[in-house]
Amino acid sequence: FEHTFIAIKPDGVQRGLIAEIISRFERKGFKLVGIKILTPSKEFAQKHYHDLTERPFFNGLCEFLSSGPVIAMVWEGQGVISYGRKLIGATDPQKSEPGTIRGDLAVVVGRNIIHGSDGPETAKNEINLWFKPEELV
Ligand code: ATP
Ligand code: MG
Repeated sequence: FEHTFIAIKPDGVQRGLIAEIISRFERKGFKLVGIKILTPSKEFAQKHYHDLTERPFFNGLCEFLSSGPVIAMVWEGQGVISYGRKLIGATDPQKSEPGTIRGDLAVVVGRNIIHGSDGPETAKNEINLWFKPEELV
């Protein structure tokens, strides 16, 4: 089975969008196989976004991800990695299509409410970073 890592970032949690976001993945037909709520440390956020170390927004991004509770999830289903990215929409909510999560619910790139793995390799690495095998059903 294909799996992806999805996180509702602190802005999505704070704005009360947990149920809305989970509902979109559920209604599509994907299966939730892992979920928890936690506030990641800044060091953990830096590990999660390690491939963006060189970007000018890296520090602010990691500060933000560690600023409050995050919902960490693993979703299962055929094509869930790439289709999950479609449900989420473009990185910049100004460029996300209406009907996508970011298109419908977010305005600025630094507060785009949700993360999704961008490929099979990152999905595997992110699931291993955020979850122990026994935390998945
Ligand atoms: P994510 O990895 O969070 O799912 P993404 O894969 O669509 O998002 P990435 O290029 O991986 O986009 O960027 C990671 C995150 O960094 C983005 O979700 C966004 O919050 C932030 N980000 C990206 N580009 C910028 C930017 N130009 N200015 C500020 N923040 C940015
Ligand atoms: Mg990304």
